Amino acid sequence: MAKATKVEQEITVEDKLHALYNLQRVVSNIDEIKTLRGELPLEVQDLEDEIVGLTTRLENFSAEIADVTAAISQKKIEIEEALAKIKKYEEQRENVRNNREYDNLSKEIEFQTLEIELCEKRIREFTAVKEHKSEEQQNASSQLAERKLDLEQKKGELDEIIGETKQEEEKLREKVKEIEAKIEPRLLTAFKRIRKNARNGLGVVVVERDACGGCFNKIPAQRQMDIKLHKKIIVCEYCGRILVDRELAEADNQD
Ligand SMILES: [Zn+2]
Repeated sequence: MAKATKVEQEITVEDKLHALYNLQRVVSNIDEIKTLRGELPLEVQDLEDEIVGLTTRLENFSAEIADVTAAISQKKIEIEEALAKIKKYEEQRENVRNNREYDNLSKEIEFQTLEIELCEKRIREFTAVKEHKSEEQQNASSQLAERKLDLEQKKGELDEIIGETKQEEEKLREKVKEIEAKIEPRLLTAFKRIRKNARNGLGVVVVERDACGGCFNKIPAQRQMDIKLHKKIIVCEYCGRILVDRELAEADNQD
């Protein structure tokens, strides 16, 4: 009778450890899917924001180029007006009655000539600005085209991953239910609590190189022996994670 109880107990704890380790594997897979999905929507959002930004930049460039083009036209009109004045003054100078009138007209002509030079200088400056803006506009435009392609690609990937992982996640969640049914509620609650508090969502870890696979603190030899016996559920005294030995984990990793 005592022997039977002992055998039953042994099987039960080892089974529980296997169940816990398998549960950890499956929920870690679900975590991975979430991470995968969690990054792509962000990347898509970033691209969409960038596209909005570039579109605004392009609109600004167009407005600035239109302004500077109008300014160049204005200076050209001023040159035409100055040339007309010069022509008029030169005709008047042909018919002057005295030196004073001649000098006054000559001064006016000189003044208009300087005005024309100033306009030409402005036109050169505005043209340089226009060329620079046009170049920037072209860069932004090809950048926008690239980002739009990137966005299309990322959106495609995201749709694909959502499609793919939806099925996989459902399968994994079914598996979780199956495994959880094998674990007593109290232990399951404990596992969930440990997992929630642990970084990386690991509630069950393997002993690696004499240390806890969760917090990497050394585990005393006697405790490691106990872990290997699979007769008790043993938690790390530092981080509280449930510990399993490599042999038990490897047996589960094979299926
Ligand atoms: Zn630990």
